[in-house]
Amino acid sequence: MDVPTGPDHPLAAPLHVCVVVPCYNEEGVISHTVDVLLQQLDAMAHAGLATLDSHICCVDDGSRDGTWLEIQELAKRNKRVHGIKFSANFGHPNALIAGLFANQMKADVLITIDADLQDDVAVLTDMLRHHHAGKRIVYGVRLERQVDVLPKRIAAELYYRAMRMMNERTVRGHADFRSADAGVIADLERFGEANLYLRGLFPLIGYTSAEVHFVRKERHAGESKYPYRKLLSLAWEGITSFTTTPLKMVFVVGLLMFVLASGLGIWIVWAAFHDRPIQGWASLALLVVTFSSINMIGMGVIGEYVGKIYKEVKRRPRYIIESTTHGE
Ligand code: UDP
Ligand code: MG
Repeated sequence: MDVPTGPDHPLAAPLHVCVVVPCYNEEGVISHTVDVLLQQLDAMAHAGLATLDSHICCVDDGSRDGTWLEIQELAKRNKRVHGIKFSANFGHPNALIAGLFANQMKADVLITIDADLQDDVAVLTDMLRHHHAGKRIVYGVRLERQVDVLPKRIAAELYYRAMRMMNERTVRGHADFRSADAGVIADLERFGEANLYLRGLFPLIGYTSAEVHFVRKERHAGESKYPYRKLLSLAWEGITSFTTTPLKMVFVVGLLMFVLASGLGIWIVWAAFHDRPIQGWASLALLVVTFSSINMIGMGVIGEYVGKIYKEVKRRPRYIIESTTHGE
């Protein structure tokens, strides 16, 4: 995708940018990340794209290390650094929306980026150029997954294929590195769901969007908070929060089994009439386990959706803010 170039001092007024950074046990990287982001904001301000007072909002998602102390220190040193502290760990998507909603009135464009600098900060400039050119949402898209190990790459590929089949608005290679204008965030606020799957929600909001491409880097320091178990649950969450295709699949599998069972039934009756009784126990046992396991899987899938309804109807708050540095 082409990035609009144009003069470095566009006629349009510079935009106030807010970069939201979710942080969970990131004491090792956060101050470096904030430095890099501030430099980038300065560069964009000099290019006439961002205002000089564009700011960063770090959301501490209930870290157990010194992340909040670091954020407070950074906020004290530079008034363009703000901080929000959760009372406990509410998860990455909740940290993102807390930062977005708290800053929606203060900024024209809001960008979300991980604290570990795996996403390329340099493409923020391209994102902003797209906003100047009238785009409402800009997706950061990874070009290749060289950094990840092979099984993770294969899993990602399979996942995107499945997602695309069920929800054609999935942006391939896009995680949570994106920018959107304040109006889009206001629309996002109207999605009150507890099962938040942001990378699926933004495409659902619509408007004109663009993609910027980058190569994902190694984590700057610290370790990934997304082990395979969590990745799997994220993928499952993505599928079940967005489509009811698995429920339809339960029906289709049931239908197939019915056809199979009918065929078997006809054969049994035919065999009985032709004096060819079928050997008993093994075939019977096989049938019982096959059909009952398929039943259980179907019930599991339906149960997942029932669980989601249960979570939604409770209407629990999605996060609780313990303190902030700027009264957000
Ligand atoms: N994160 C968070 N809450 C959590 C887990 C992670 O706010 O419960 C943040 C984390 O600090 C980081 C981002 O989400 O800024 C992505 O996490 P990570 O880099 O561990 O994931 P990976 O890049 O390995 O998928
Ligand atoms: Mg990371």
